[in-house]
Amino acid sequence: MVNSEYERRIAARFTTFDQDGNGHIDRSDFSGAAKALLAEFGVAARSDRGQALYGGAEALWQGLAGIADRDGDQRITREEFVTAAVKRLRDKPDRFAEIARPFLHAALAVAGPGDGTVTVADTARALTVFGVPGDVARSVAAALDADGDGTVGETEIVPAFARWFTVPE
Ligand code: CA
Ligand code: CA
Ligand code: CA
Repeated sequence: MVNSEYERRIAARFTTFDQDGNGHIDRSDFSGAAKALLAEFGVAARSDRGQALYGGAEALWQGLAGIADRDGDQRITREEFVTAAVKRLRDKPDRFAEIARPFLHAALAVAGPGDGTVTVADTARALTVFGVPGDVARSVAAALDADGDGTVGETEIVPAFARWFTVPE
């Protein structure tokens, strides 16, 4: 039962994680997102950067499952996501940041030149790969560049991702 504005917003996050849209979040949503990002930026799955991205995606899945998959069936339903994830993460954005950091670190290496940053334009491109509509992706990418230097780095994207997940905008 979704009974608050906050929980309704968290339920919308579910749609983002359910990358293949089959109604639950599982490992394949994360490996699929990694595969799509590698394809978009022309990085081989067997390369170091490709393997790091798959490793980060697996860590993100394991971390999220550890929090939200209460019945342990390797699937996170919408209800599990809303009830468990909301209640356990609401006051712990730092914890979610650490769960997401390896994936985000690896994604920056895939989408950028390898110095830990990605241009705002390529950040928008990456968000589009994950299903964010183009106009939204462009405004989100611009907002992620908190210091306005034209690129997005780990210190900008990790806390932003944690806030997006844990705090209502
Ligand atoms: Ca899914
Ligand atoms: Ca479950
Ligand atoms: Ca920046």
